[in-house]
Formats: sequence, C-alpha cells, structure tokens
Amino acid sequence: MNILVINCGSSSLKFQLIDSGTEKWIAKGLCERIGIEGSRITYTPAEGEKEETVTPMPDHTEAIRLVLEALTNEKTGVVKSLSEINAVGHRIVHGGEKFASSTVIDDEVMKAIEACNDLAPLHNPANLIGIRSCRELMDQTPMVAVFDTAFHQTMPAKAYMYGLPYEYYEKYKVRKYGFHGTSHSYVSKRAAEFLGEKYEDMKIIVCHLGNGASVSAVQNGKCIDTSMGLTPLEGLIMGTRSGDIDPAIMEFLAHKEGLGIDEVMNILNKKSGVYGLSGNVSSDFRDLEKAAGEGNEKAKLTLDAFDYRVAKYIGAYVAAMNGVDAICFTAGVGENGSTTRERVCAYLGYLGIELDKEANAKRGEDVVISTQDSKTKVLVIPTNEELAIARETSALLKA
Ligand code: AMP
Repeated sequence: MNILVINCGSSSLKFQLIDSGTEKWIAKGLCERIGIEGSRITYTPAEGEKEETVTPMPDHTEAIRLVLEALTNEKTGVVKSLSEINAVGHRIVHGGEKFASSTVIDDEVMKAIEACNDLAPLHNPANLIGIRSCRELMDQTPMVAVFDTAFHQTMPAKAYMYGLPYEYYEKYKVRKYGFHGTSHSYVSKRAAEFLGEKYEDMKIIVCHLGNGASVSAVQNGKCIDTSMGLTPLEGLIMGTRSGDIDPAIMEFLAHKEGLGIDEVMNILNKKSGVYGLSGNVSSDFRDLEKAAGEGNEKAKLTLDAFDYRVAKYIGAYVAAMNGVDAICFTAGVGENGSTTRERVCAYLGYLGIELDKEANAKRGEDVVISTQDSKTKVLVIPTNEELAIARETSALLKA
C-alpha cells in the first residue's frame, strides 16, 4: 500500500509517500510559505535528486495539488497516477477526549476534529484545511486521522486533572492532554522490541527532546503521564517555550511590562525556553553547546537548567511507576545530543545507570547506550512519526 502522510501547519505542509509493505519512504518534501509571498516546494524522490521550486501557493489546496503533481510527474515522479496512492494519513494535533485512537475520516470525524479547534487554535484548523484540500483533489482515496494526543488518553484522572475548579473541566474540558503521542508510542514500542522484552510488561520513560520537548511514562504499554498539558506549553524548557512556570508570573509580567494576555502568551511560546533564557543566543542546541564551550555563562546556565528539568521529570515518572526498566531518548536533541544525554544521565546514578561512552557516540540507529551492568537500560531510538502514521493508516484500512 502506498500511503501519503500529510502534516499540515498554518503556512507549511510536510509530506512523505511511504510503502507500507517495505516501510520505506518513496518520496518526501515540504511546502513552505503557503499563502505568503515567496512560497516554495522541495521534493525528494528516494532514488533521485532533491529539487526546490519557487512557485505561488495561495492556499493549501494549491500546495497539495503541487505535491500530487510532483509525485506523478512524468520525469521525476514516483507513481504513474493518483490511483497508486492508496490512502492518506493526516497528522492531527488535538483530538481532545473524543479520540483515543486513530480513525478513518468521514464527515462526522471532521466535525469532531473541528470541535477540538478551541484546544489547539493554531494547529487543528490548519490540519482540517489539509484534509479538505486532499478530499477535494482525491475524493475516492480513504483518509485516516492520527492524533498527537491519542496515545496519552490512557492517563488516569489523577494525572490529567489540574488543581482548578472542577467546573472548568466540565464546561471546557480543561485538563492535561499531552502531545508528541505518535512519537512516544512509536519509540516506547520500538524500545521493547529492540530489547526483546514484552511491551506490556515494561516501565518505560520516553524523552522526546526536540525543538518542542516532552517526557512520558509508559507502563504496561499504556501512557500513564506526560509532561505537556492542555497545550504544548507545559513541562520541559523547550526551544522557545517556557515549560513549567509559576502561573502568577503571567500577571506579574503583564503589570510590570504593561502587556496584554496575548503578548504574555507570545513571550511564553515564542521568546522563552532555551532561546530566552540564554539571552537570545539561539533556540538550537548546537549553537548553545558552541556558545557554552566558548565560555558564554548564560548558555551554560541554559543547558544546565534544561538537563535538570529533564532529570526531574524522569525522577517524577520513576516515582509514578514505582520503577523504570528503560529510558529512551529521541528527536533532534535526544538523538544527536550525546552531551545532553550524558549530562541528564549523570543525575540518574540512583537508578544504577552507567553510560557506555562508545555507544553514546553513535548516530542514526537504535542503540542501547548504557553498559551491560547498568541496572536500568538507556536507549537512543530515532523517532519516525511519518512511519508511525503510515502504520496506523494501513492497519485501520486493512481492518
Ligand atoms: P526536532 O524538533 O526534533 O527536529 O529537533 C530540532 C532540534 O534538534 C534543533 O533545534 C537542535 O537544537 C537539535 N539538534 C539537531 N542536531 C543536533 C546536534 N548534532 N547536537 C545537538 N542538538 C541537535
């Protein structure tokens, strides 16, 4: 089955065509600046050169039309016609409490996704536009929605409820949802498989450390807690997001700086995190490591604060599960940042963790980075959200 995986943002669209039999990608690419001047599409066939075309994309339908044209192009395309694209898997950010698993898209599902728009006002409307555009251009092709929140729906109420008046949960469904679910699910399953253990018997902590970052606790194959919340702002210190702060800081800053709530939120989402804390050195860990190496004190403090927060969440989840068998690192920093992994694991001596320096230096593969004697296993598992979406799509349509 050839599955087109679509990840639609407000002005961008990532795509990957995956053969669900071999689980290899056939072509992939990105549309950027949709609806803005200077839009461009990059397209890479697995057996060809990457090409970039600057062309107007006034809306997402035009972007998807260009994607389909690239995939079926006589010279550089990878399929002869659209009929060779058997299904589309859409990444949807927020499924609220309604979606605890992926689902085949129909009109009812579209309405239910729309009902979650309030919970993810920047993401869900863009995801819906992606679905509508695909339906317009491929009306016979089955489509599946795969939710970032679904994997976390197994959390117990004691983990997802905030200490707020209960009526806000009843009226508005204010609670913890968690994100990056596709990645947490993929990585935790793969870790069990890689270790040759039964997923249902394990206690696993997944640290998804990218520009957005979250930690989750997976016990007996089910997520029991995760660090992101109602929105992706809660939890770890991220690229530009603050993560956990005293909520009173919002009012304090609003008064001191004469800001409105939207401006404060903008600071917490876009100007904080490692970017803000480092005094605007960068949101990219490579730049931070370099600056810290050159003696920049704020960059050093930022890395310390980031590592410390990750280690604290790991500790909290060890407590929540009364133990841990495996800790996994994934995403941009988790997969590539060997020094970050080393510093985080330095806090975990109480778990009997010892790192294997040689294994920790490896890149781009599933690897156990703890020594054979280490009581708790530590792994790097490169995440593959597109493949996870393709798997979900194919499994649902075969069922
Ligand atoms: P992601 O959001 O998963 O794509 O991760 C992106 C982030 O990964 C970038 O902003 C970098 O901070 C980080 N990253 C990528 N490569 C490296 C590397 N070699 N060392 C440390 N961090 C890296």
